[in-house]
Amino acid sequence: MRISEILDRKGTQVATIRPDATLHDVLRELEQGGFGSLVVSTDGRTIEGIVTERDLVRVLAQRGASALDGDVRSTMTASVVTCGRDATVDEVMGMMTNSRFRHVPVVEDGVLAGIISIGDVVKSTIDELAVKAESLESYVTGTY
Ligand code: AMP
Repeated sequence: MRISEILDRKGTQVATIRPDATLHDVLRELEQGGFGSLVVSTDGRTIEGIVTERDLVRVLAQRGASALDGDVRSTMTASVVTCGRDATVDEVMGMMTNSRFRHVPVVEDGVLAGIISIGDVVKSTIDELAVKAESLESYVTGTY
């Protein structure tokens, strides 16, 4: 299955935050939106970084609550791994597994065009397995 199929289903909306926002703002956005990550972008189109709940856990553990006054730029990951709409779900699963992160932004023509979370990958894999199981069952019982 291709990433474009997941995006067609769930949409291409991506929650972003400016690099000069504070980590307090990140905390609020993650909680209000029910997200696990925010793409860092000044214009909402060009990716400058990514900040996730794990980054917040790290700074809080290392520096305490006052770290939340700091800006996003100082905590985000600037070197973001992305994929295109035509990447396969297996390829993106490989990226997540090898690099140990759970979010991969989608880029088309240099512009942010969606985001895939590990939850999206797991859901599409389960859906695909269910379809395979159903057609195998039909084959075995002769009801296809
Ligand atoms: P996550 O598992 O997605 O919460 O992210 C774990 C760590 O990887 C955090 O430090 C994130 O900033 C970073 N990270 C998350 N997604 C990506 C990505 N697509 N490219 C590079 N780093 C990422």
